[in-house]
Amino acid sequence: MSSITPSPSTKPLSGPQKALRKLGLLRPIDLALHLPLRYEDETRIVKLSDAQEGQLLQIEGVVTACELRQRGRRQLLVTVDDGSDTCLLRFFSFYPTQQKALAVGNRIRARGEVRGGSLGWQMMHPTFKSALAELPAALTPVYPTVAGLPQAYLRRAVQGALDRAELTETVPPDRLYATDRRPAWSLHHALTFLHNPPPEVSLETLEDHSHPAWERLKAEELLAQQLSQLQAKRERAGFCAPALRLPLHGGPFLPQQLLAAFAFELTRAQQRVIREIASDLERAVPMHRLLQGDVGAGKTVLAALAGAICIAAGRQCALMAPTEILAEQHFRKLIGWLEPLGVKTAWLTGSQSIRERRAMLALIASGEASLVVGTHAMIQDKVVFKGLALAIIDEQHRFGVAQRLALRSKLSQDRQEPHLLMMTATPIPRTLAMSYYADLDVSTLDELPPGRTPIVTRIVNEGRRDEVIRRIHEQLAQGRQVYWVCPLIEESEALDLSNATATHAQLSAALSDVAVGLLHSRLGSAEKKDVMALFVSGRLGVLVSTTVIEVGVDVPNATMMVIEHAERFGLSQLHQLRGRVGRGGGASACVLLYSTGDSTRLGDTARERLRAMAQTSDGFEIARRDLEIRGPGEFLGARQSGAALLRFADLLADGALLDWARQTAPWLLDRYPLLAQQHIQRWLGGKAEYLKA
Ligand code: ADP
Ligand code: MG
Repeated sequence: MSSITPSPSTKPLSGPQKALRKLGLLRPIDLALHLPLRYEDETRIVKLSDAQEGQLLQIEGVVTACELRQRGRRQLLVTVDDGSDTCLLRFFSFYPTQQKALAVGNRIRARGEVRGGSLGWQMMHPTFKSALAELPAALTPVYPTVAGLPQAYLRRAVQGALDRAELTETVPPDRLYATDRRPAWSLHHALTFLHNPPPEVSLETLEDHSHPAWERLKAEELLAQQLSQLQAKRERAGFCAPALRLPLHGGPFLPQQLLAAFAFELTRAQQRVIREIASDLERAVPMHRLLQGDVGAGKTVLAALAGAICIAAGRQCALMAPTEILAEQHFRKLIGWLEPLGVKTAWLTGSQSIRERRAMLALIASGEASLVVGTHAMIQDKVVFKGLALAIIDEQHRFGVAQRLALRSKLSQDRQEPHLLMMTATPIPRTLAMSYYADLDVSTLDELPPGRTPIVTRIVNEGRRDEVIRRIHEQLAQGRQVYWVCPLIEESEALDLSNATATHAQLSAALSDVAVGLLHSRLGSAEKKDVMALFVSGRLGVLVSTTVIEVGVDVPNATMMVIEHAERFGLSQLHQLRGRVGRGGGASACVLLYSTGDSTRLGDTARERLRAMAQTSDGFEIARRDLEIRGPGEFLGARQSGAALLRFADLLADGALLDWARQTAPWLLDRYPLLAQQHIQRWLGGKAEYLKA
């Protein structure tokens, strides 16, 4: 490691050394890659006769007076004469050594904002130094820092590290990112430049990271990310998984029987994706595939088919969902499809009774149950599978990295891993998918099953609530069902509840001839299940709910969805909610009720979001706009996505660099594996493990 990292025998760390550790700046290379936020220009001297009111500048002159004033607020008053005019420097706190440096007759440079003009120039608390030193040739960098780590210390540490850091090239010069306009810079040149830019550089191109030196750094960073993911993918290729193949003769086998039992034909997209999955499962290498498809695109159907392939090959399949309601929905669907074909299933959640759980664990351990559905109760220690070969994770982004890692390590034994299929209804925009999921194979369901009627989306002011209730009445009169979703009030679960309760009471009174149900997070899971079951069976006409129904609920007879305080929801969340309707043959509507609160109009971002919802029902387009409006961090949850590891590159703006990194990573890993390792180490140090989850 580095010379800054102490060996156990050395003396305790100083304050600034501790602060460097806190920033993760341990090795010389970490410091060299710690780049300035902005710069100060100390290369120029401005004559006071040329100064403008409020200008930030540096002057140089001789101290002609230095007075310590004790009256009123203690301060040091220093007069400097630069030959064209004088300037009064005021200091309210100072060390004796500083006072000495400001003694009459000394020649100094002071840097700060000048004020006062005709009344006489003044600077409050300027920075200053002796004018004996030569003027610096480069701009002075200002670094991101923390308390206890002064800029001057950090600057010295970085400059020292620049000399010690290993800045050899890891990519051959002819493969570096370059355009016709711009040949590539060497890493050494780029870093030296960014830490010491010459005064004539365009500050704008440094600040917006468009300068060729920045471009070089961003390309390096993206390459490191691509390399580490590609490497994780290849490591996985060294693991074995059970090859799940159907016998060549005989049958029909379970997957074929299941297909025949469906009341529909697979869409072309579904056929393509199941072929992709089946060919992964046939191989003795673990599948690592993300299946993305809009709500209602038919992912669950494919999960069942993949499970059927696994079970037909004599192995166990597990499906894990983020919530009990969702797990329950899957369970019911999968039982409905697979039990008639003789498949034994088990069910695992946190809320089941000890007795039931014990019985389930026995079924799973003996291998009697070949399909296991549940929540993350599944990754607990007591659960032992007989022969798990396929794990399906629904809405994978709702599980944290730690849970995904736990699932993988739990299920793998002696370099044997199960196949992994992750499903998501939050489509990931192409740029994001390419970057964050470089180590995943992605299958996309880009076609909805036929016969869906488009959902008409209306944006309605809260003031017209009564009209909306009349519309609900019409739907109910036609035998349809309606969802009413209440807002998420993040700070307060209690407020959430009171809002939902009030709406429930209002709708119950206004719609006296139908039953109105209420679903919220305070209900026990048994109660939640009961309410859901009543709605699914059609005995409830309206379901008022907080966002617990967000994912996966499937009631084709529901044709209207009202979302209260829609302005408080994210785009993707609105899209998920809206996907609960339009699942049957009936024309469906989604009403986005908004409230402007105390102000008279909706904020711009909120308006933009709701408009996007009304304009398109394409989940990918919505995801793209969401990314534009909110940025990728929020999109995937920074901690979960590895987004925190991208310090400099911007996925939206740096698409060309990302393309280059994607092409270069496999080439480098194949041709120059040692250089590739060096590159990963340089950028990610110990963080690479995190990216593999
Ligand atoms: P997702 O999990 O992607 O939201 P599901 O698999 O739950 O979607 O499917 C949504 C609904 O569409 C279900 O009622 C399912 O039975 C039905 N469905 C799925 N695929 C088809 C198809 N090819 N043709 C007709 N209906 C389908
Ligand atoms: Mg689903």
